[in-house]
Amino acid sequence: MILRLRSDADPHERDRLVTVLRDYGLEVTVLTRGGDTVIGLNGHALPDAFADDLAGLPIVESVLRPTKPYRLAARSVRPEGTVVQVGSVRIGDREPVIIAGPCTVESREQVIRTAEAVREAGGSLLRGGAFKPRTSPYSFQGLGERGLELLAEARERTGLPVVTEVLDSEQVELVAQYADMLQIGSRNMMNFALLRKVALTGKPVLLKRGFAATVEEWLLAAEYLLAAGNDQVVLCERGVRGFETATRFMLDLNAVPLVRQLSHLPIVVDPSHGTGLRELVPAMSLAAIAAGTHGLMLEVHVQPDAALVDGRQSIDPATLADLVRRVRAIRAVLEEAVTV
Ligand code: PEP
Ligand code: MN
Repeated sequence: MILRLRSDADPHERDRLVTVLRDYGLEVTVLTRGGDTVIGLNGHALPDAFADDLAGLPIVESVLRPTKPYRLAARSVRPEGTVVQVGSVRIGDREPVIIAGPCTVESREQVIRTAEAVREAGGSLLRGGAFKPRTSPYSFQGLGERGLELLAEARERTGLPVVTEVLDSEQVELVAQYADMLQIGSRNMMNFALLRKVALTGKPVLLKRGFAATVEEWLLAAEYLLAAGNDQVVLCERGVRGFETATRFMLDLNAVPLVRQLSHLPIVVDPSHGTGLRELVPAMSLAAIAAGTHGLMLEVHVQPDAALVDGRQSIDPATLADLVRRVRAIRAVLEEAVTV
């Protein structure tokens, strides 16, 4: 059950209500954003009469009984949508956000040059992996903490906030010291211990879709973050496994309007992993914008053919700059299409 409180609810009254609900034996999650408070209740079957009593309290605006297995992530909880703030960047607002950078931090020169190119192209966030989830244990696993230091240096030089992946529960504190946003990768979407630990840092989270996960499973993974009290969650569609072998994954653009309908959380699209082929990245980026994505996550390398990881799907800085220009053009047309 979910309670939405009135925007003028007195914080003392709210705290009293939370105490009473906890004393009643319920697990209580409180999410506050601006003046808006949502309380999630989990516990034994709650009788209708109890819901009616709660609905009658002066500070309660409405009582929702979600019909889907995810509750706090459901659209009805925050019909106006959630805006996730990373530094001064707002994800989930009107303008799509460009998150770009190398797949993997390889060297100081590589990450600084790429970050500068991302900023010049009009990107808003710098991505880059320091700890890499590689299918083979013999592949390059990333620079680790040195990679985090280089990302922090790139942030200092460019002003771009940094998003980077945390692979393991034991790394959460270390990565959180450097990152502005923590990425949970596709292979870890269902690592529930990691989800809980990442949520508790209070940092914004980029939650990639497991490549064999349904949209419902993905939203339930997001629910773990929300139920731990962190509503700063951005979903990232990055392609799922299908029968096609000509592309690396199948980019599921259905997920964009679907997730926007089902959940209040912002969704971004990663056409780099979704296609695996750099020549497909611009077209699928524009398609994602037309489908209503709140942003794009793009792999960029100053010398894609020399990249240590994912070079085949990485675009170069000139392609990024051209793509950002075309994203803006498509946005302007869409704006016109909906306002005319
Ligand atoms: C990445 O973003 O570099 C990455 C490893 O992505 P995914 O978890 O989607 O494979
Ligand atoms: Mn990659």
